[in-house]
Amino acid sequence: MKCPECSKQISDKAEVCPSCGYPIKKQTPEGKFQKWREKRLKYLVILCLACLPVGIALKEPVVLILASIGVVAGCIKLSSIKTKRMNRNS
Ligand SMILES: [Zn+2]
Repeated sequence: MKCPECSKQISDKAEVCPSCGYPIKKQTPEGKFQKWREKRLKYLVILCLACLPVGIALKEPVVLILASIGVVAGCIKLSSIKTKRMNRNS
């Protein structure tokens, strides 16, 4: 692969560029997937939060219940992802 800083050919396994010392970030596919999942969950929570006032305005208990479940479930999932990551780092 090429170093993003000095464009010299370096090993795929190198953590830093031997020629300029640029740190090569290791983005594992698993890490990317985790981030994407976290992002999607955040959007889900925001979407459900946005549905709460809509449910109140429409006086629609079904919307309120579904939105509440979405917010709670999303928050639980997000916190479980975060604790998992913290455990891995420590
Ligand atoms: Zn370099």
